Amino acid sequence: MKAIVKTKREKGLELQDLPVPVPRDDEVLIQVKAAAICGSDLKLYNWEPGCEKVFPNLPVVPGHECSGVVVAIGANVQNISKGDHVAAETHVPCGTCWQCLHDRPHTCENMPLFGHNIDGCFAEYAIIPCAAARKVPASLSFTQAALLEPMGIPLRAVLDGNVKGDSVVIVGAGPIGLFATAFAKIMEAGQVIVLDVNPKRLEYARAVGADYAIRPEGDQIIGEINALTKDFGGAGIVIEASGNVEAIHQAVQYIRVGGHFFMIGHTDLPVSFHPSRDIVKKEISIKGLFGRQIWETWDTAEEILVSGKLDVTPIISHRFSLDQFEEAFQTAFSGSGAKILLLPE
Ligand code: ZN
Repeated sequence: MKAIVKTKREKGLELQDLPVPVPRDDEVLIQVKAAAICGSDLKLYNWEPGCEKVFPNLPVVPGHECSGVVVAIGANVQNISKGDHVAAETHVPCGTCWQCLHDRPHTCENMPLFGHNIDGCFAEYAIIPCAAARKVPASLSFTQAALLEPMGIPLRAVLDGNVKGDSVVIVGAGPIGLFATAFAKIMEAGQVIVLDVNPKRLEYARAVGADYAIRPEGDQIIGEINALTKDFGGAGIVIEASGNVEAIHQAVQYIRVGGHFFMIGHTDLPVSFHPSRDIVKKEISIKGLFGRQIWETWDTAEEILVSGKLDVTPIISHRFSLDQFEEAFQTAFSGSGAKILLLPE
């Protein structure tokens, strides 16, 4: 089978011909129908700092956002059959640690990560551990099903934020920010403001319903947000999907007293706050979100897709075959795309 493989601890990926894997007792084998590129795949491509930890075992087949058709199942697999359509959850819970036993399998202490420290889906076939295989209705397209994973975290932020009628600021208009924007509109936010430095991404934000899509110019953005959110007493909910230190610092300044700050963007750089001024006296709640609640978030995301309320079309900017992976990744690096799909067929 064709597979994209990370073989060396340096920049680049390669297309290889690998044997089709055979599922073990607790695994299913899928024929991959749609896969999507995530920001973490770009970090892997470039072998950025931190990759040593996240991708300890090379060679590895990257890719973790996907859907496909089950073509073989292991001996112990019960609820999934050949021919079923499935999507993959990236966080593979162990089922026995404290987190797993306390209804938090998405933050399992021992979890392998699909497409990180176990092989993923940028290939014609992929093995999914059954603890991470999500059966999806055949009425969903494979593209929709492949996007259930990346839409999960922004969906959690919007649901936890209780956005109805309130002012929402979404920082970063990459695919995660775009999903957050679309969900905030579906959940009837009073006002959705999206910030990004990339004008192309601001166009995508408008296409998914942003009321305002703004390119921030330094700290001026604080005054601009304050003016726009005046009728709401300020920005009630901020969803930080950029991982940009300056943007995070600005957000704690324009967020409303008593506001909710959801951090879903990643950075390993430190951010400094004045705890008294920025957090305590403002009674800001800060919540990090990592992963999807298994399977509650999936149930809700699936319901929204089946209902037809979420149109993913404006969020998908490009489609490539596995042979064109280099072009797909270069398009992703260029910042001119939104969600970029790899379609094995
Ligand atoms: Zn666990």
